[in-house]
Amino acid sequence: MRKHLPDMYRYVALRKRILGVDELHYYDVYAPLTKGVSAHYTYDQAKQMVLDAVAPLGEEYGTIVRKGFAERWIDVFPNKGKSGGAYSGGSYDSNPYIMCNFTGTLDSVSTIAHEMGHSMHSWFSRHTQPAQYADYTLFVAEVASTVNENLLIEHLLAEKNQDPATRLALLNQYLENFKGTVYRQTMFAEFERDAHAVAERGEALNPAALNNLYKKLIVDYFGPELVVDDEVQYEWARIPHFYRPFYVYKYATGYSTAVALSEGILKNGEPAVKKYLEFLHMGGSAYPLDELRHAGVDLTTPAPVDAALDKFGRILDEAEACVAQLEAAK
Ligand SMILES: [Zn+2]
Repeated sequence: MRKHLPDMYRYVALRKRILGVDELHYYDVYAPLTKGVSAHYTYDQAKQMVLDAVAPLGEEYGTIVRKGFAERWIDVFPNKGKSGGAYSGGSYDSNPYIMCNFTGTLDSVSTIAHEMGHSMHSWFSRHTQPAQYADYTLFVAEVASTVNENLLIEHLLAEKNQDPATRLALLNQYLENFKGTVYRQTMFAEFERDAHAVAERGEALNPAALNNLYKKLIVDYFGPELVVDDEVQYEWARIPHFYRPFYVYKYATGYSTAVALSEGILKNGEPAVKKYLEFLHMGGSAYPLDELRHAGVDLTTPAPVDAALDKFGRILDEAEACVAQLEAAK
């Protein structure tokens, strides 16, 4: 992982260049990069985009997604008293219902694709496995959801003759997914591992020690271009996942797996799709690493994570090219 950090520094530098700031602070890594591209999608458009995106997964997958939309598995819009966020749920003998808060942004559309990925995983598993094996582990869960996210963004990027601003907005969404899911969560995992090591060495595990650890990681991960304000060291305290031991690395492994699988599905078609769908049918009936190996990804080697991060580098190359094009047109 750490050998891929220079690409993150390059992304930070690109943000600084686009935002036109003298100093890039930690909060600036969250600012939107593309002014003026405020694509808004209706829910009907979102449904169609998701259906088009999952078309490579075949007839049956598409038919069930369509059924889910038609039978209103989804509680779509924000409402009075409704909580934020999104999830897929249901029980063994119910439909895999979805809660979300659709606002029409690209991110909202991506959330529908994501949650529908969970629901389809549940659907296949619940219709194949007995109740005791139908639930799947977290390690495989975020694969089914992020494969769909990636299929969506690849589908949108495949459109011909995009203007560079629109393309940059899409690429930025892609890079942000990588940043939030692979880089940031791996940084969290390092924090967790090192905090445990502090305790194991018998040293004091107090806020000052944890702040220190966290600040060092931010510097390592985001590089010399980033101004790290003092407040940043406290961020660990508000990450709820740290109260669930060794949860965070699974986002990074899940996303890396999803990158490999979605690339395989788009490049190799039928044979890759077949194995992927079989994986979705397995639910919790086998060990997670074995299930993923069946789908075509071996997480006992660093290869899938390296391949995913190489892809981050390539998306970044393209984003830099779009920025250069936009700058030349000014
Ligand atoms: Zn999810």
